[in-house]
Amino acid sequence: VAQLQRPELAYMNGKLVRWEEAVLHVGCEAVTRGLNVFEGVKAYWQPDGSLSIAMPRQHYERLARSAKLLHLPCPVTYAEYVGAIDQLAGALAKSDRDLWARTTLFGVSGHWGEDTVADLIVTAYHQDKSPACPIHMGVSTWRRSADIALPPRIKTGSNYEVSRLARIEGRAQDCDDMILLNSAGRVAEATASCILMVRKDTVYTPPPTEGALESITVDVVEALAASLGIAFVRRPIDRTELLIADELAICGTLHEITLVKSIEASPIYGKTPVLGALQNRYLAAVRGEQPHPAVEMVALASVKSAAT
Ligand code: PMP
Repeated sequence: VAQLQRPELAYMNGKLVRWEEAVLHVGCEAVTRGLNVFEGVKAYWQPDGSLSIAMPRQHYERLARSAKLLHLPCPVTYAEYVGAIDQLAGALAKSDRDLWARTTLFGVSGHWGEDTVADLIVTAYHQDKSPACPIHMGVSTWRRSADIALPPRIKTGSNYEVSRLARIEGRAQDCDDMILLNSAGRVAEATASCILMVRKDTVYTPPPTEGALESITVDVVEALAASLGIAFVRRPIDRTELLIADELAICGTLHEITLVKSIEASPIYGKTPVLGALQNRYLAAVRGEQPHPAVEMVALASVKSAAT
């Protein structure tokens, strides 16, 4: 599991620091009230030997939106954001593994929204290059919070307490991941990814107003579907629709497109002509084998080429 790794270095306070020194003070709002917003960014080795990050502009813009909603000043420009990931990746990248970077703005000083100061901290973890096998999912009794409570649109650590409870619940039921319903009982998302459902050759996903994060991968899937001539619709999804879906997957930066083989007591995974095609096209795009205009890959200049 990525975050059980202990990489040698992290990026903090504008520079690389040793892992043991990447610490926050107990008095800061990041610790006392969990004040932070973050993005997970994936880097893939390309056929030309470069290591490139997928869609950094979209990640930076969503980080800035999350920060704005929490009144957390964003201390870095887009160029500084990419530069921070680049610097850390330059020190940690290994040619036989992809990389996943967690880029977090922690509230390091200020009090109840006054004089708030944030610091960009980047940690990075090695990832297997092979896509995940089809998974078994459950439906959690925990609910995705509402826009008027802890808005799911804000990608803040506190929003993942519900995901954590759902995963603990799921482990007791031998589920690989859990679906979170919204307060109306309709499908919101999974614990750290969005839902893609196929019925009669059309891909459906719940919109953010149903409690899903504004997902970068969902936007990409929509563009890839258009290129492949696959119908794609954002609309509310009932729980019972999941049980009779033709195909089901979770999608996100880290999970890419991971197929679902069963949900609760219902098997789903058999033939996956639609989601299988989207999965292959997505992986070909991020790995640079078959670029797509909706998938911007930005090469990291500090990373030594893996080309022979
Ligand atoms: N929902 C949640 C709760 C997530 O953590 C993620 C991963 N960032 C997603 C959805 C998928 O978002 P994205 O495609 O932008 O990675």
